[in-house]
Amino acid sequence: MPVSRVSGVVRGGSSDMDCIICGSPLPDGPAQIHSIPYACKRWGFVRVSADASMVLPQLRTEAESAKVDAVSHFVRQLSDEAPGRAVYINFHDALRWFRDTELELEFPAAQARNLIVWLGTRRLKDQNPAAYHTASVGELASVIGARNDHGAVAYVVNHLVAEKLLELLPQNLRTANEV
Ligand SMILES: [Zn+2]
Repeated sequence: MPVSRVSGVVRGGSSDMDCIICGSPLPDGPAQIHSIPYACKRWGFVRVSADASMVLPQLRTEAESAKVDAVSHFVRQLSDEAPGRAVYINFHDALRWFRDTELELEFPAAQARNLIVWLGTRRLKDQNPAAYHTASVGELASVIGARNDHGAVAYVVNHLVAEKLLELLPQNLRTANEV
């Protein structure tokens, strides 16, 4: 039974070591060299063009936060579909995705399906059906297509736990901000 460990890690501010797109800290930075792809927990393996990196912070600020989460889910899906190949994000794609009214978050049933599929692909990689998986709320939100919010992610996780498709780490092994 796969066990999902969910933690909420949010950090304010931004620096040269943060993701150009979402501001998440990047332990493997730098993200400022546009020709080099990098992996972000939320958006996946991406390469951001110089002009896209100029416009993305503004698009992100101006957009509804649900829209930012929807775009992150879209890019994350592209990234997960082609492991090892960076999703190239150019200026025109960035504009298009943020303005596309049909690019929305998933409904709960699809979120649940996305989580099961994602756990399945990770099991194949681990070759261990009982492997523990750890993920932040932000990463899981992007993977399943939910709001980047503890409650929104927990809603889906708890449903799958109730259906006995998922098992959580015992409470005493989790910290206060983990689901
Ligand atoms: Zn990011």
